[in-house]
Amino acid sequence: MPFEEYLKKRDFKKTPEPAPKAEIQKEKHLIFVVHEHHATHLHWDLRLEYEGVLKSWAVPKEPPLAQGLKRLAIEVEDHPLEYAKFEGAIPEGQYGAGKVIIWDSGTYIPEKFSDKEIIVDFRGKKLLGKYVLVKTAFRGAKNSWLFFKLQHKL
Ligand code: MN
Repeated sequence: MPFEEYLKKRDFKKTPEPAPKAEIQKEKHLIFVVHEHHATHLHWDLRLEYEGVLKSWAVPKEPPLAQGLKRLAIEVEDHPLEYAKFEGAIPEGQYGAGKVIIWDSGTYIPEKFSDKEIIVDFRGKKLLGKYVLVKTAFRGAKNSWLFFKLQHKL
């Protein structure tokens, strides 16, 4: 943490001095959406805004509302940010044909965002609090993650 000393001495709610960009980034609220997708197999699509796109995972079972449930989440292609507001019916014959509705949406704070582990603090209606996505080697697949809610205290 390069600005540790600088940060320690200042309260940016009280001083007009600039906060380092990294600190602003940490507090930034990004958007998320979970689509309920009635395709051939009903699944949920978790999408997190990150670096200008929606990082996306297909979750075969309903996302966990309480801790103790770990869900498989298959990473899929990035979607455009505009997709966060999409609801509708994808026509027969098209990729992902079926009804898409928004299951939950809101903002989140990215606490960690690496290739292997993502920790987010959700401010949605259903998804609230800290969740983890951690890469796993489920059945040898390279794109599988586990998605679960964190305990209150860590
Ligand atoms: Mn889908």
